[in-house]
Amino acid sequence: MKPSGYPLIPAEEALALVLDRTLPLGIEEVGLGEAAGRVCAADIRSEVELPRFPASAVDGFGFQAASAPGPLRVVGESAAGRPFTGRVQPGQAIRLLTGGMLPEGADTVAMVEDCVTSELPDGMVTVPEGFRAGLNFHRPGDDLRPGDLVARAGHPLGAAEVGLLASLGIDRISVWRRPRVALMSTGDELAEPGGRLEPGQIYDSNRFSLQAALIEAGAGVRFAGRAPDRAGPLRDFILTALEEADVLVTSGGVSVGTHDLVKPVLEALGQVLIGRVKLRPGKPFTFATLPGGRYAFGLPGFPVSSLVTFEVFVRPALRRMQGFARLQRPRLPVRLGYDARAAGDRTEYQRVSLRRSGGELVAIPTGSQSSSRLLSLAGADALVVIPPGQHGIPAGTLVEAIILDLP
Ligand code: AMP
Ligand code: MG
Repeated sequence: MKPSGYPLIPAEEALALVLDRTLPLGIEEVGLGEAAGRVCAADIRSEVELPRFPASAVDGFGFQAASAPGPLRVVGESAAGRPFTGRVQPGQAIRLLTGGMLPEGADTVAMVEDCVTSELPDGMVTVPEGFRAGLNFHRPGDDLRPGDLVARAGHPLGAAEVGLLASLGIDRISVWRRPRVALMSTGDELAEPGGRLEPGQIYDSNRFSLQAALIEAGAGVRFAGRAPDRAGPLRDFILTALEEADVLVTSGGVSVGTHDLVKPVLEALGQVLIGRVKLRPGKPFTFATLPGGRYAFGLPGFPVSSLVTFEVFVRPALRRMQGFARLQRPRLPVRLGYDARAAGDRTEYQRVSLRRSGGELVAIPTGSQSSSRLLSLAGADALVVIPPGQHGIPAGTLVEAIILDLP
């Protein structure tokens, strides 16, 4: 063991430093079919109005309101995509189907259920008496006007946004590039799930938990492998992993044990800006900048520590790289359902489940908060941030929680 020379900095300071150093990666154009979930690079405003033509909202008859109730002569049909090209004269009607264009001359639409065709000569219809102009059709611009904002820069394109863009005829769109992340596990004890364990080995779980978290955060992930606890091979692994990546994410090998080799390798390759934070779990969190505008995050090996430091530092940074306006998860006030104490001088991110009670959310811890106990995160709805100090926060206090999932 050797003492770590890195200053122990507050978690908020570390996050500010990470976000200060990470920048949006660049813009690319994608087809609309690949645009969902991507972050829009610029505001998109409509140049047209929707609907583009007066369109019937019902199946029925179009006519001039002044001609009601008729009987009116039905002079043709306007179906969706098959408009009637003539003009509707006084005393005439047009059979309309939903989405059909209202022909010139017609100023209103009556639903077929409200019209009478029986006991009339063929091709005649009686419409309701005193029928008003302007009913049962959508006017041009009712849904969208030129200049209306349909997608906002810095916000992800959702189902409604891609639908809107399609309805405007837009098929290519500028979005922020996704970070290409090389993910690596370190440790001689790690084995691939599915295989046999030798004495002292454990399965590599961080690879899968971090891969899932990276995908959720919008990154493109390539697993670069499991590196052994030896400086030379580890360095080669990192160099190969970085060949086609913007970001390197490693787990393990960042604490002060003799096998903790990630920091020296990153130091040799770039600049280690953070080597320790006042955070629990996750004290050995490491952040480095590398040549070529690349970044490395050295996450601790313990499964909870790696995921919590991912939440606190890596996810916001990846969102910054993707141009997200909102970097953080939503926060809500919750009532502590237990006496919360932070350990020593570190801010603690405690994993809690949330219950609804009398219009409030109440936080209940998810059992032992040991950094090896991944089960404490598996059922967690939120993280509550407990500041360092002797006294902690008593049960019943309102605190702010980082919401992972709402019950
Ligand atoms: P380290 O930071 O490398 O000293 O690892 C701290 C603890 O986390 C040790 O008990 C490791 O065995 C464990 N650990 C490290 N990497 C992984 C991993 N990829 N999956 C599961 N546990 C791990
Ligand atoms: Mg290790």
